[in-house]
Amino acid sequence: MGLLDHAGARLTGRPEDAEILVVNTCSFIDTAKQESVDTILEMARHKTEGRAKKLIVAGCLVERYRDEIRKSIPEVDAVVGTGELESILEAAGIAPIPKPVSPFNILTGVATARSGQESLAGTHKEPAFRAEGDHREQQGRFTREEWQGAAHMLPTYLYDETTPRLLSTGRTSAYVKIAEGCDHPCTFCVIPNLRGKFRSRRFESVVAEAQRLVASGVREITLIGQDTTCYGEDLGLKDGLALLLDELAKIEGLRWLRFLYAYPNRITGRLLETIAKHNNICKYLDVPLQHASPAVLKSMKRGAGAEIFLKTLGKVRAAVPGIALRTSFIVGFPGETAEDVRVLEDFVEEARFDWLGVFSYSDEEGAGAHGMTRKVPKRTIEARRKRLMKLQQGISKRAKQEWVGREVVLLAEGESSETELLWEGRTEFHAPEIDGKVYINDFGPFENLEKGRFYRAEITEAHEYDVVARVVSEAL
Ligand code: SF4
Repeated sequence: MGLLDHAGARLTGRPEDAEILVVNTCSFIDTAKQESVDTILEMARHKTEGRAKKLIVAGCLVERYRDEIRKSIPEVDAVVGTGELESILEAAGIAPIPKPVSPFNILTGVATARSGQESLAGTHKEPAFRAEGDHREQQGRFTREEWQGAAHMLPTYLYDETTPRLLSTGRTSAYVKIAEGCDHPCTFCVIPNLRGKFRSRRFESVVAEAQRLVASGVREITLIGQDTTCYGEDLGLKDGLALLLDELAKIEGLRWLRFLYAYPNRITGRLLETIAKHNNICKYLDVPLQHASPAVLKSMKRGAGAEIFLKTLGKVRAAVPGIALRTSFIVGFPGETAEDVRVLEDFVEEARFDWLGVFSYSDEEGAGAHGMTRKVPKRTIEARRKRLMKLQQGISKRAKQEWVGREVVLLAEGESSETELLWEGRTEFHAPEIDGKVYINDFGPFENLEKGRFYRAEITEAHEYDVVARVVSEAL
């Protein structure tokens, strides 16, 4: 979006108004693929029946089904894989212009203001990979041979601080991707085949981007990557994520800093100390564990199990008191027995996660588990997923009750999508978009709240996942 905006395109969220339609796709599980294909077909109708002249498909579905998309959906004019982002301009038929001094714009509505046009020297370098990635490549981890139509070259692209961005997350909050790709061997996952080998953005590039974001008004930064806890290993950094957090936390004006997607055995003492040390690093850890039964985890090629995870969680809670923990699990992995599910449920009961997601196993071609026997029937998978969610619902309800009476700092996010009588907000214990909500039903001393401002508030009511709060004062 940033590249298009900077090159002169006017962006609109209304497909019926657009001349060029871009569908950004996902393809890591079946439901994501289906949603992507449905959206492409819906947009194709705007071309055949509406005013759109061009349809571009971008993202992971292109990495997987490049030729197939063009063959089966003739309305598609161009495809742009995850490794060729900058070719979006050529696909759209727009001439590139030099990179801007300030590469950020905020997506506020239909039209956007243009940034400055002076060029900065390009700093993008081909990444050097980790030995682990090279080793896994030799073992065939990234192969796409059976994927007809996939480009044989793995993506190597990384954006840098000079790449124009258009923030679609408002003025206050922004995601910053610190690394791309993944070298882990998880047998249910095709993300490494789609995104390529693990590679980190340069340390200075991330810091420069974060500084500019904060200078332009952003107050919350969420660091992302397929595996954030490996950050810097390919750059020769030890405890790279902790070093990066340490540096970013010094940015004046940055109120909340967090990272998502920690790999369980990469949570070091230094990382925890860093989270504990800085007031502006959110006391929040997202660590997808995928399962708790050692047998299933072994078959997933992730290792460990409930006992080790409980020790890790104990260490995390001791180092950062009050930290909110999020995880996600997959149920129905091939060979998963009723006993494995019992181990998982016992673990969930004992671990008391603040936030938890459960995914049904999706059997992906190209993933190691695809060829495994003892597949679990779909109905059993669904029943296991529902049971685990129900169990967590009770745990969450009890935990949220303990929030009542607590004073928290809230980021006001605007009127509730459910009713205009309430506003919604988040605390440092809620990552953007994925966790429960804080509904604000009492503005306290204020007639109106301001979106993107921080307030002190008292939690007055608790539900299963959400809580209700009363604003007390502004949080300075
Ligand atoms: S660590 Fe995450 S992205 Fe990497 S292979 Fe495992 S599940 Fe996939």
